[in-house]
Amino acid sequence: MTDARTSAIYRQALEVIAEVEPRVAEATRQELADQRGSLKLIASENYASPAVLLTMGTWLSDKYAEGTVGHRFYAGCQNIDTVEALAAEHARELFGAPYAYAQPHSGIDANLVAFWSILAHRIEGPTLARLGAKNVNDLTEADWETLRGELGNQRLLGMSLDAGGHLTHGFRPNISGKMFHQQQYGTDPTTGLLDYDVVAAKAREFRPLVLIAGYSAYPRRVDFARMREIADEVGATLMVDMAHFAGLVAGKVFTGDEDPVPFAHVTTTTTHKSLRGPRGGLVLAQEEYAPSVDRGCPMVLGGPLGHVMAAKAVALAEARRPEFRVYAQQVADNAKSLADGFLSRGATLVTGGTDNHLVLLDVSSFGLTGRQAESALLDAGVVTNRNAVPADPHGAWYTSGIRLGTPALTTRGFGHDEFDRVAELMIEVLRSTSPGTTSTGAPSKATYRLADGVADRVRAAAAEMLDNHPLYPGLDLA
Ligand code: PLP
Repeated sequence: MTDARTSAIYRQALEVIAEVEPRVAEATRQELADQRGSLKLIASENYASPAVLLTMGTWLSDKYAEGTVGHRFYAGCQNIDTVEALAAEHARELFGAPYAYAQPHSGIDANLVAFWSILAHRIEGPTLARLGAKNVNDLTEADWETLRGELGNQRLLGMSLDAGGHLTHGFRPNISGKMFHQQQYGTDPTTGLLDYDVVAAKAREFRPLVLIAGYSAYPRRVDFARMREIADEVGATLMVDMAHFAGLVAGKVFTGDEDPVPFAHVTTTTTHKSLRGPRGGLVLAQEEYAPSVDRGCPMVLGGPLGHVMAAKAVALAEARRPEFRVYAQQVADNAKSLADGFLSRGATLVTGGTDNHLVLLDVSSFGLTGRQAESALLDAGVVTNRNAVPADPHGAWYTSGIRLGTPALTTRGFGHDEFDRVAELMIEVLRSTSPGTTSTGAPSKATYRLADGVADRVRAAAAEMLDNHPLYPGLDLA
């Protein structure tokens, strides 16, 4: 993965940076040390390859290129055209998508492009035709009023945040919950699983324009064929946000009804989570949505980031290699090992297990909030993030859950035994943590006490595993 050339490049790059702002060089150096020395279990993070990282540090960043490939608002975009076209081509081939748009700067931006394109495709076009206008430039002020009324007031149905959905799936305070009339579907209160009949009943009653499937914290697979059936029955556009599990789709762990791309009208993703690319987003779409998705920039997005689209092309090329399928399968297998490691030691998991890349641990049985558990684990060098569980009594800030994912440590080479050991170490920390009090002595949801010596013991045990699976092996900044 790494070799002497990479060491030389980064050593010299940090020297150049340090001549201008040494504190940036130092923070960059320290970030590598921190990532090397901790158990990264954040489900949305990964380690991109040196090729991907190096691609981002170039002059492709210096070019403005609003518009689309071959159709730019600026002169001299031929090289940006090349990298954007490559990213889109790799994405189409990898996911079997008729159309791919590589410009979104992040997952949220990709979702905004999707909303925009669905509204433009489903509402704007027919309304313009009815008003006898070819495009928006032909509209009168009265026509604009009509168009605004029809573009607004649309309905969106998505998975609720506390069931594992994302903020952009209609959460009230998010723009998706403000620009759309929204309703949310949850999971079954007993099993924690999606109940498609309940989703269908809600859809029949609410009749959304957009039905969103996809999640940030649901540890199970989704039947996208069934979601498409529901969308078709009520005349909705099916949008799938596969930001979290795109790597498992790319790696053919999710196939058939579990592969969203053939079923969704529009699919969005990030490129930096299980897909192991640069921070960024992608939109995949059926051909009929392509023209409206293409207008993402400059209608919704700022100018495309040439250096990041280039890095997407490199990462997607990596994901098309056979090794990526092995990696993706290992991510899913490792999540099972981690879940089994917890279950065999008596811990409680939302839905009772996992069949994707993530595990949602309910820490209330340890007498802790997610906030306390997250902090105690961090003291021991285990990096996680707290996450609400369904109907969480502690809400979205303190929470009762810890979300864990296997993509990053799998990239480092962890397998079954290591993930079982990770579960064991985490249980040791959680059992050794007690809730603290506020300054007035009242029970606190944030403070905690971790028994003496545990953090050091766990750090030492983790260090042994981490040393056996070095991050960027051979990369030496000294
Ligand atoms: N969609 C889902 C399902 C996510 O989990 C996330 C990020 O956590 C996003 C979108 C947003 O991605 P980004 O942070 O790149 O905007």
